Amino acid sequence: MTTISRRRLIVTGAVQGVGFRPFVYTLARSLGLTGTVANTPQGAAVEIEGAADALGQFERRLAAELPAPGRVDTMSRVDLPATGAVEFVIIDSHVEGALTAEVLPDLATCDDCLRELFNPDDRRYRYPFLNCTHCGPRVTIVTGLPYDRANTTMRAFALCPECSAEYHDPSDRRFHAQPIACPRCGPQLTLMIDRKAAAHRDDALRQAGDIIRAGGIIALKGIGGYQLLCDARDGHAIQRLRDRKNRPHKPLAVMFPTLADVDSTCAVPPEARALLTSRQAPIVLLDSRGSLPDEIAPGLDTVGAILPYTPLHHLLMADLGFPVVCTSGNVSGAPMITDDAEALDEFATIADAVLMHDRPIAAAVDDSVVTVVGGETLMLRRARGYAQAVALQAAVPPSGTLAVGPNQKVTVALSHDGVIGLSPHLGDADDIRTQQSIAQAVDHLTAFHRTRPAVVVCDLHPDYATSHMARDYRQPIQRVQHHAAHVYAVLAETGFTGRALGLAWDGTGYGPDGTIWGSEAFRVVPGQPLEHVAQIAPFPLPGGDAAAREPRRSALGALWAAFDGAPPIDLLHFTASELRVLLRAVERGVNSPRCASMGRLFDAAAALLGLAQTCSFEGQAAMLLEAAARTVSTDEYYPFQVTSFTVDKAPVRWIMEWRPIIRGMMSDSQTRSAGEAAAKFHNTLAEMALAVARAADEPTVILSGGCFQNRLLLGRTTARLKASGFEVLWPHDLPPNDGAIAIGQLAASACGDVYG
Ligand SMILES: [Zn+2]
Ligand SMILES: [Zn+2]
Repeated sequence: MTTISRRRLIVTGAVQGVGFRPFVYTLARSLGLTGTVANTPQGAAVEIEGAADALGQFERRLAAELPAPGRVDTMSRVDLPATGAVEFVIIDSHVEGALTAEVLPDLATCDDCLRELFNPDDRRYRYPFLNCTHCGPRVTIVTGLPYDRANTTMRAFALCPECSAEYHDPSDRRFHAQPIACPRCGPQLTLMIDRKAAAHRDDALRQAGDIIRAGGIIALKGIGGYQLLCDARDGHAIQRLRDRKNRPHKPLAVMFPTLADVDSTCAVPPEARALLTSRQAPIVLLDSRGSLPDEIAPGLDTVGAILPYTPLHHLLMADLGFPVVCTSGNVSGAPMITDDAEALDEFATIADAVLMHDRPIAAAVDDSVVTVVGGETLMLRRARGYAQAVALQAAVPPSGTLAVGPNQKVTVALSHDGVIGLSPHLGDADDIRTQQSIAQAVDHLTAFHRTRPAVVVCDLHPDYATSHMARDYRQPIQRVQHHAAHVYAVLAETGFTGRALGLAWDGTGYGPDGTIWGSEAFRVVPGQPLEHVAQIAPFPLPGGDAAAREPRRSALGALWAAFDGAPPIDLLHFTASELRVLLRAVERGVNSPRCASMGRLFDAAAALLGLAQTCSFEGQAAMLLEAAARTVSTDEYYPFQVTSFTVDKAPVRWIMEWRPIIRGMMSDSQTRSAGEAAAKFHNTLAEMALAVARAADEPTVILSGGCFQNRLLLGRTTARLKASGFEVLWPHDLPPNDGAIAIGQLAASACGDVYG
């Protein structure tokens, strides 16, 4: 006689909202097991009863065969007395206990749903809100845990009998699909023109398409916020969108109907193809073949391409059959708009019509942005599609440690039970609305994890809005130097534990000496705080923060330093009186802080080459410089030095002396094109990184900071270092820019590398 045993398995990982329970149900029944499965706040609890070998098989196959995006992280086992159960059942959710179960990100529409969407015989034919356990909204509809319909913005939609039957049928793809919906019982579209409902349902969709076809602008309620759409082939429509949105130059993402359409417009390497068609469906920055109007990305040679990722986008793009601009519906610097009333107000003067629906958005989540460098993924904006929980591959600070990030590209992160909850990209904290989003994101994380902030980690800069917000929690504060946080973020992501040289080449950040940093090198030694070992020679930044919007100010400061106070100034577009004021300020050291920022050095180079005197968005000058450099192929570089100091004579061990670069660019200006000079500038910085790496003599070099969003700089620096025998580490799941600072702050906190 076979012995019957019973076991309880506690499973954690991505096990909710992924069809885990029907999978368990099917597996258990196929093995002749009885028992139960239930979601718990921590994950899932399975009880199985049957013959011992069948129980063993069940455990092995559970972890091995769970389909993606499901994932088993841990499984603990307790033996129980057999109960004589005769069937396997799925039981309702537990709600007590700490909340640690992972809420999945929103996932792009799956192939099964797509087939139904375009099948005239299917009851969800052309229904823009279909989804299943393998796809659809998750984090943007969740209002609490555990992940059940009652804790989503779908709670107001009562299931029709057919949806209810699917929802309760363990063999159905929509078994416990919380956002399940159909045309009978789910959300519906409305097209608003002049604040009045002009059309409903499929008519609304078709009329919105007509408006785009006629050169108009549509505000569309997407999965994580409103977006603005217009015909991407129509330069006039795009310019109108730019004028109305007051966004003169910032590149606009383009949604293409199909991958073949992306191919005909951009160079698509295999890695980019995989990213475009992934379930995350991010915007992928690609080299343009030049067939779209220049208004898409003025002066740049790239296109941010994206494929449809919700049923609504699929239907619209299939109807249109041509690429459309698809950009976040926000006011510059502010978060994406998610509220319908606010959308009608904000878009009244921007869009010709608003395509909305009645499924509320619980959390704003923007499209993610990635690119490919040397065959590897480079994350630029981590948002939709990417998990809002990350497992640090390094020490994790105690539960309740909250990091509020830097000032730009803010994300916030909370440590809880060894896992880090990470918000999506929130925006720039100078904007009051972003500050509200930051506070909401913190509330969201603390509510989900039922953890109050016990320690708050912020930037060393005393005047960042986030540093002020950190104090509002009235808990102990830890401050982390900005560029150290960049290096820590890479250590946390990669789990690297050896000795290294960490470069953080960035815009500007606050140094503990009170000057502006941004070209830092740290020696990384296990078990010790980072040692600050190198930066570029400082130069004055006339007007301080104003220089971020006016590259010509950085150029003036750099020229002043490079020509010992007697700069050749005829290249800079200042009036005589402006110049007089600025030069006097620099000479007297008034409102001209010393800066060692690599980002500002890029700005200076772009202004000297006539590529950008002022800019309308962050990073514009560096992007124009990169685009110019990519038109020329050369290995030439300018002279530079890496000078050694004893640390009691200088703040750091090595100073990277860039002034010969500026002098070289000035003498090239008569004979060489801007593209040649820009290429030589990039090459020189790669050589400079190599020279510092040789001086520091550590086997591994970490590349981080916003400057390494520059594909040319990152690719060339990586290649030069590798050719000289260095291991090179740069981040893939987190961005090199300030979007990773919150994670870096937590990692620095865990290592005790903080200021009080
Ligand atoms: Zn699906
Ligand atoms: Zn229904």
